[in-house]
Amino acid sequence: MPTASVIIPAAGQGRRFSGTEAKSGPRVPFGERLTKAFVLLAGKPVIEHTLERFCTVPAVAEVIVAVPEDGVAWVEALLAAAAARTRCRLKVVAGGTDRPESVARALEVSDPGTELVAIHDAVRPLIRREIIEEALRVAVERGAAVVGRPIDHTVKRVAAGRRVIETVPRGDLWLAQTPQVFRREVITSAYRKREEVVGAITDDAQLVEALGYEVAMVPGDAANVKITTPEDLHLCEAVLAAGWPFKE
Ligand code: C5P
Repeated sequence: MPTASVIIPAAGQGRRFSGTEAKSGPRVPFGERLTKAFVLLAGKPVIEHTLERFCTVPAVAEVIVAVPEDGVAWVEALLAAAAARTRCRLKVVAGGTDRPESVARALEVSDPGTELVAIHDAVRPLIRREIIEEALRVAVERGAAVVGRPIDHTVKRVAAGRRVIETVPRGDLWLAQTPQVFRREVITSAYRKREEVVGAITDDAQLVEALGYEVAMVPGDAANVKITTPEDLHLCEAVLAAGWPFKE
């Protein structure tokens, strides 16, 4: 299996947890409150769980975490012990003004010798190793692979006043998750040309699709929750308490 660099963008200063969740974790040196990636989940920061999921995959050679500039040394110290328990190298870099810029900076310092680059949300700590490995395998074969789930809910389009205006056929709709994995030359060329893409970029695969590359979908699972609200954090706590990962 070719080797992979894993990029975890966590440089956002945006939405933060507040109240009890903000008090439950280590103080971050940037901003007044905890960003979601640094809140405690089952006793350790969310991002440490995420790092451990990837660092214990044999093909992963390095993990690069992008954080706010004033947090680089602090995050290095926070994650050093977790990285040292595995063979994988940890690099912490200062992110940019938006997510694509943070990913671009991480790409710049990534080892040019790895064949694959995986990009994963810091706030998806329950990614299963076998799904990571399947995404890496599909990316080798197809050039680009995105983990996702077919939509099993009925989807409605809703206008002003919460008026339902349409039931959207869901047969070919999937929700994109992460990791999103690319052969190195695919993602570096997509990032080089990212200024050419019009409209909002909400994930990395979109950039690759926009430049005409094929992207393959890899089925993920429902436990790969993106922690966005305090409820999501409680859900992750419950999944861990129930004995996750269930099939590894
Ligand atoms: O703010 P939003 O939820 O869109 O951020 C998505 C992810 O991108 C978060 O993990 C955030 O930390 C990261 N990000 C980043 N650099 C930025 C802005 C966001 O790494 N400048």
